[in-house]
Amino acid sequence: MSRNLTQVHNENLPFICEHCGCSVMPPESGTEHRNHCPHCCYSKHVDMRTGDRRSGCKGLMEPIGIWVDKNKEWSLIHRCRKCGFIRINRIAPDDSEMLLFSLALKPMIQLPFPSEFLLEQLKKNTPHGEIK
Ligand SMILES: [Zn+2]
Ligand SMILES: [Zn+2]
Repeated sequence: MSRNLTQVHNENLPFICEHCGCSVMPPESGTEHRNHCPHCCYSKHVDMRTGDRRSGCKGLMEPIGIWVDKNKEWSLIHRCRKCGFIRINRIAPDDSEMLLFSLALKPMIQLPFPSEFLLEQLKKNTPHGEIK
């Protein structure tokens, strides 16, 4: 694998979140890329590919949802407010749990259809009325 050595930048410098104004410190381990604010989970559109800092957009990226992979690892879905670019970013250990929780719940508490009938169907289709 060849690495692009012409690109010199340090991703682990503290920065000020453009959305909530908090200063964001780099993770202590220094191994993971801190690419979003742990308080509001907003990110910034600076990459074309993760970590390359080659995008000229610089738009704010809003957290719009949660994606869970088969190993139960959570990622944030970010969407750029300026150009609409969507990217998946792994959550960090210091991300606001309440915010992540509310992002995951959002579709469930804002259903575009009534849920009573669906819940009834779910109960009928699972033996002993258990929802698995
Ligand atoms: Zn923030
Ligand atoms: Zn953008």
